[in-house]
Amino acid sequence: TEQTLVLIKPDGVARGLVGEIITRIERKGLKIAALKLVNVSEELAAQHYAEHAEKPFFGSLIEFITSGPVVAAVLEGPRGIAAFRQIAGGTDPVEKAVPGSIRGDYALETQYNLVHGSDSPESAKREISLWFPEFTL
Ligand code: ATP
Repeated sequence: TEQTLVLIKPDGVARGLVGEIITRIERKGLKIAALKLVNVSEELAAQHYAEHAEKPFFGSLIEFITSGPVVAAVLEGPRGIAAFRQIAGGTDPVEKAVPGSIRGDYALETQYNLVHGSDSPESAKREISLWFPEFTL
């Protein structure tokens, strides 16, 4: 089994899509190992998105992710990382995410793409310790 760090970003919480997204996670068969609502500090946001620090969209990404509460979760399952990325859909919710995925069904713009999921076991380990320091992998 594999763990992944998933976020429902401020757009998902503000739009009232938390239940819908968690329903899809549960229907896929992924287990919720940890779950909480978080008010994201600039420090946490910058650490989470450190790999994008040099990108032109970094400033607005940090502003967005700190704009309201996010739901953070640790999900668990066989091929959990790929499984969540499959149900999330591609980063661009129109050009990449297919209908039937979370982003494909509910999002229009790349920045406001509702969810985050770790992209590798190394990222998952790093992100779980960042968002759930109380939770040991
Ligand atoms: P995430 O890491 O959130 O799961 P991802 O792995 O699909 O998304 P990344 O390329 O790591 O995509 O980008 C991280 C996040 O930065 C995206 O989910 C999106 O919110 C934002 N982002 C990425 N590219 C752009 C862009 N060109 N313009 C605005 N925001 C962007």
